[in-house]
Amino acid sequence: MAGHGLDAMLVSSPAAIRYLAGFTGSNGLLIVRPGGAVLLTDPRYRAQAGIEARGVPRVIVSGSLLDAARERGLLEGCRNAGFEDEEVSWRRHVAMRRAFPGVRLRSAGTLLGDLAAVKDDGEIEAIAEAARISDRVFTDLLPLIRAGVTELDLASEIVFRHRRYGADGDAFEPIVAAGGRSALPHARASRAKLVRGDLVVLDFGCTVRGYGSDLTRTVAVGRVSSRWRNIYRIVRNAQEEARAAVRSGASGRAVDAAARQLIRREGYGRQFIHALGHGLGLRPHEPPRLAPRSVDVLAAGNVVTLEPGIYLPDSGGVRIEDDVVVRDDGCDPLTASPKELPIL
Ligand code: ZN
Ligand code: ZN
Repeated sequence: MAGHGLDAMLVSSPAAIRYLAGFTGSNGLLIVRPGGAVLLTDPRYRAQAGIEARGVPRVIVSGSLLDAARERGLLEGCRNAGFEDEEVSWRRHVAMRRAFPGVRLRSAGTLLGDLAAVKDDGEIEAIAEAARISDRVFTDLLPLIRAGVTELDLASEIVFRHRRYGADGDAFEPIVAAGGRSALPHARASRAKLVRGDLVVLDFGCTVRGYGSDLTRTVAVGRVSSRWRNIYRIVRNAQEEARAAVRSGASGRAVDAAARQLIRREGYGRQFIHALGHGLGLRPHEPPRLAPRSVDVLAAGNVVTLEPGIYLPDSGGVRIEDDVVVRDDGCDPLTASPKELPIL
């Protein structure tokens, strides 16, 4: 905070409050000062906050948490308070200004994101457990993928099996996209039935202690053309190029470029229509970004996805995504599902 010129932080997003104080309730405000932090929440969460945010002084109030913070003088003497500019709504920002008229509210920029991007061993173990569960779900899915089942059938199996194998929930709504729909990187599962010759993109993840996995595999229902088998090989090789470029100190831009250059050389540069990857943690997408215009630099302890893809509109798409932990001299994989194109 001192480095950012801040003498307080108003932390209001559930993910950041959970990260800093352990509290998982939906209504909270964490005020961080150089001398310590105070958590404000409402009476519904009195007991839960006591268990989860042990050691953090708590204020339980009905009504506005911001007003309560002012009445208790929690920003007394503060001149520059940081807030989460990507999380705070305009309405809440106005309420913050009204509650603390003498305080300059400033964007906390990358302060919280940079902290959360570097995971400790316990956080990495939670993501690794989520990754193991998603790998197990993928193995379960293979015998269920055949002509006649719908995308939603498979999405339901993913949701059910994640829970059954011990996840808290889904990290995001699973993507199951078959045939021409697999050309849509973020297609939602539909009632469309799989037909022979389809490629199916399955992209899913679950959470363990709040931390998410993110796994994508592409499978073929029956034989697919040699063109698609070639595209699959290119995507897989591009991911391998990226993996070899990951290490502490590498730029997000350079790792993206490692995959993108290979895909470009093979003639599909314009069909790789998204970033290579993103950080993974309490949020399904967080810093650092692996993308052509990223300004992020990888640090040991980051957990990132590597997910190149090639999409031919109306025809189909291939994406392969794995999660890795960044180390000083490379990276360690967290997801381990096989990467040969399964022909089902
Ligand atoms: Zn994904
Ligand atoms: Zn992803």
